[in-house]
Amino acid sequence: MNEGIYRQLGEVMAKRGLGGRPTNVPEYDTMLRVLFTPDEAESSCVMPPGYFTPNVISQATGKNESDVTITLEKMADKGLCMSVVRKGARVYVGPPLMPGIFEFQFMRGTKTERDYEIARAINAYRKAAASVTVIPRRASYPGSRVIPVQRTIKAETSVQTFDQVRNYIENSEPIAVTTCYCRHEALLIDEKDICGMPNDVCMQFRTSAEYLIERKIGRQVSKDEAMDVMRRAEEAGLVHACVNTQRLDFICNCCACHCAILQNVLRQPRPADAILHAFLPSFGEETCTLCGICTDRCPAKALSINGGNLPEWNAERCIGCAVCASGCPEGTIVMVERQGAFVPPADMRTLGEVIAKERSRADF
Ligand code: SF4
Ligand code: SF4
Repeated sequence: MNEGIYRQLGEVMAKRGLGGRPTNVPEYDTMLRVLFTPDEAESSCVMPPGYFTPNVISQATGKNESDVTITLEKMADKGLCMSVVRKGARVYVGPPLMPGIFEFQFMRGTKTERDYEIARAINAYRKAAASVTVIPRRASYPGSRVIPVQRTIKAETSVQTFDQVRNYIENSEPIAVTTCYCRHEALLIDEKDICGMPNDVCMQFRTSAEYLIERKIGRQVSKDEAMDVMRRAEEAGLVHACVNTQRLDFICNCCACHCAILQNVLRQPRPADAILHAFLPSFGEETCTLCGICTDRCPAKALSINGGNLPEWNAERCIGCAVCASGCPEGTIVMVERQGAFVPPADMRTLGEVIAKERSRADF
C-alpha cells in the first residue's frame, strides 16, 4: 500500500510545485519517504487548492475527522502543511515542495536528528536533479526577481511600486523573520560550510508569516526591525530576491555561495535573462578610484578591473542587484531604470502558467 501512496504523492507534489526540477531520479522518492509518513502522504495527496478544513480530508480518505485533525496538526508543526485561523475556524493549506515545504524544514535553524536526516535527503535530491537537468540555450520566463537596495536608486528615477522594499514592509502584517534555509541546510550537511553572512534575514509576510510565527518556525518582528534586517543584509552584500509576482509572500536575502535561486540563475549562459530586474548600474567616471570593492562584492562576477577609468561591466551577467552600488565608498554607482523591464505576473498561479507556456517553447 505504501508504494502506491508514495508514487501518488510524487505525482501530486510535482504538479503542486517543485521549481521546475525533474522527478525522474530515485532520490525524489527517497526524499518524500523521509519527509512524509504514509499517513501524512495520504492526506497530502487529497489536499485541494486553497484553504480546507479537516472534514475535506476526512471525506476524501474515509478517515475519522479527529484523527485527520491530529495528523494535520503534526504536519503543520513539521512544515508539511500550513495552518491559520480564518473566520474563527482552523484551516489548512497544502504548500508546494518549493517554494514551501523545503524551506520550512530549515527556517527554525534547529539541529535535531530529523533536521540532519531531511537535509541529507533534500541535498541528495537537489544534486541528482541538477545532474539530469539540461540547461536551455535560452532562459525561460524568470521565476524570480531581484529588488535593488532603495538608497542606491537614482533620485529622479520613477521607482515602480513593486520594487520598493519599504512599501512591502509597511503594507504587510504580520512580518516574520526566519533563519536562512539555504545557509542552514548547508550547515547541516557540513558544519564547516559557513560563509559568514548573517543567517536571521529571511522575511515572510502575511499568511505565511502568521503560520510561521504560530508554529515557532519564525519570530514576529516590527516594521522597524524588518527594515533593520534589510539594512544588515545590504551591508553584508546579500541580494534581495523574491518570487517574480507582484504580490510578495517573502523576501530572501541571498548569497551566491548557498542560495538555490541565485545558483540556478548564475549557472545560466546569460544570468541577466534568468531573473527579472528593473534596474541596472550606472557608473560616474569622475569619482572612481578603481578600489575593486564592487568587483569583489558582485555576486554575478559581472564586474572586473581591466585598465581604463572604471570597472568593466558585463551586461549579460548583471542581475541588477545593486550590491556593487551599496558597497561603493565613493558613491560612483547608482541604479537606473532598465529599458524593457516588464511588470511581474499578479500571483503564483499566473506565474506558473506563464512559465509553463514559455518552457514548452524553450529552445534546447
Ligand atoms: S567600488 Fe566604487 S570606487 Fe571602487 S572600483 Fe567600484 S565603482 Fe570604483
Ligand atoms: S554589476 Fe554585479 S553587483 Fe552590480 S548590479 Fe550587476 S550583478 Fe549586481
